[in-house]
Amino acid sequence: MVSCEVCGDRPAEVKARIENSVLSVCNSCAASGSVIAKIQPPIVRRAPQIAEQVTEEILVENYAQKIRDARSVVGLTQDEFALKLSVNSAVLKAAESGRRLDMLTARRIEKALKIKLIENI
Ligand SMILES: [Zn+2]
Repeated sequence: MVSCEVCGDRPAEVKARIENSVLSVCNSCAASGSVIAKIQPPIVRRAPQIAEQVTEEILVENYAQKIRDARSVVGLTQDEFALKLSVNSAVLKAAESGRRLDMLTARRIEKALKIKLIENI
């Protein structure tokens, strides 16, 4: 609460014009001027509580198939695509055979082929 701009003792309750200036004043001090408006108590907007989300990223089940399909659509060989991704072609081969795919590579592939390989659970 703002305190009265005239007496400074009591909380300001109204906006009043006193001697050509508009001041936030208490009711007593407002008597020496003309009240313009009541001061609304400030609305405290609470920031929405963001629940702590614990999500885990996993690869979609058919990621190997998805990569193979999407790669053939863009017409790149495994080696060409590996080069484009800047990953070792062995990494890509492992991914396309469903043996192993790390999240970093998965993200690169997602971006390059505009497919979804990672989901949040
Ligand atoms: Zn006052």
